[in-house]
Amino acid sequence: MMAPRTVSVFGATGSVGTSTLDLIAREPEAFEVLAVTAGDDVEKLAAIAIAHRARRAVIANEARYGDLKAALDGSGIEAAAGSDALIEAAQMGADWTMAAIVGCAGLAPTLAAVANGKTVALANKEALVSAGDVMMAAVARSGAALLPVDSEHNAIFQCLASGGLDAVRKITLTASGGPFRTLSREAMRAVTPAQAVKHPNWSMGRKISIDSATMMNKGLELIEAYHLFPIGLDKFSILVHPQSVIHSMVEYRDRSTIAQLGCPDMRIPIASTLAWPQRMETPCEALDLATLGRLDFEAPDEVRFPALRLAREAIEAGGGAPAVLNAANEIAVGAFLDGRIGFLDIGRIVEDVLARAEAGRIESLEDVQAIDRSARHIAERLTAELIN
Ligand code: NDP
Repeated sequence: MMAPRTVSVFGATGSVGTSTLDLIAREPEAFEVLAVTAGDDVEKLAAIAIAHRARRAVIANEARYGDLKAALDGSGIEAAAGSDALIEAAQMGADWTMAAIVGCAGLAPTLAAVANGKTVALANKEALVSAGDVMMAAVARSGAALLPVDSEHNAIFQCLASGGLDAVRKITLTASGGPFRTLSREAMRAVTPAQAVKHPNWSMGRKISIDSATMMNKGLELIEAYHLFPIGLDKFSILVHPQSVIHSMVEYRDRSTIAQLGCPDMRIPIASTLAWPQRMETPCEALDLATLGRLDFEAPDEVRFPALRLAREAIEAGGGAPAVLNAANEIAVGAFLDGRIGFLDIGRIVEDVLARAEAGRIESLEDVQAIDRSARHIAERLTAELIN
């Protein structure tokens, strides 16, 4: 029998983390869990660590260390807390690491996992958006396999198996359009967080659900794709496809277009990274196109969804601009979820911060963190001004 592969799950209590652990639990002989991590939810983290017999559980919020230690008492599982502990957990060197912390908070542990030179499944798009060049240089240095989990990028990765980047003419990222796909801008003014988190096809964490509603998610994905598949910005296009069945497409030089299809269940792309380069069984529903009957497509509307334009402008500006865009968006989405600003204010704040922040050059993790901090500061100030 083969020795089990060691795996670590960062963001284990979240939507992607839970789906990942669901797959891992279905093949207990194949995997040994090293580290599981969370931000604040000690109870869920401890339960996960015990259920999956993890070696270590790490909570980002240091104030919760005592609670975590108490919850794991007698289990033999190590408890740790704080941002350095997240990096140390990555340095345990799992064969396969799921990077599913939400936001730029996941950047340092993801980079630490990449430095091991093993396999990193990347869901944490904000890390790649903020630190694209730094991350891709670290991947090249360590020889790590960086496997995209985002369903679109995972689809592209799968489509590229039939041709390769050199022969690509165009990559099309599909977008569901989110819950407000058909809403006028006027009607968007009054939407509530509860309406905005209700995605028509996917069940996801709160932050990415809001990003889908503003379509900033597609903007972040464009930046992510730009780094993962370096073919130049002009070769990417976005196509609204409300059913989320075609997850993305690659058109080759000979005009063959290869697409990846599947039901909207994140366990499908996660499984493809977990088993890569092989395939594994999943409990997911099979695609039934006859019952579905039709697939629809439309062009994205950048007037109602300015986030798409802002993301493209950030790529064109280069340097720290994508990190600024991401930081401003994280602050604005948080403020909207807390009921402090309106839905349309999210895009407004991102645009204003992009215009005001010092984007600068990015050569290291520290450069990214400095730009991220200063953009957050400006975004907080603009948010406060909007409220008063
Ligand atoms: P969730 O909000 O469901 O989960 C986020 C995870 O990150 C939780 O484990 C949370 O812990 C942890 N976390 C939050 N803040 C911090 C912090 N400051 N430090 C350390 N850990 C923290 O998010 P999702 O699972 O939806 O998304 C995770 C990532 O995957 C995002 O980058 C998202 O864009 C991406 N993604 C998600 C998809 C989905 O279907 N959900 C699809 C494609 C990409 P706690 O529970 O304690 O708060």
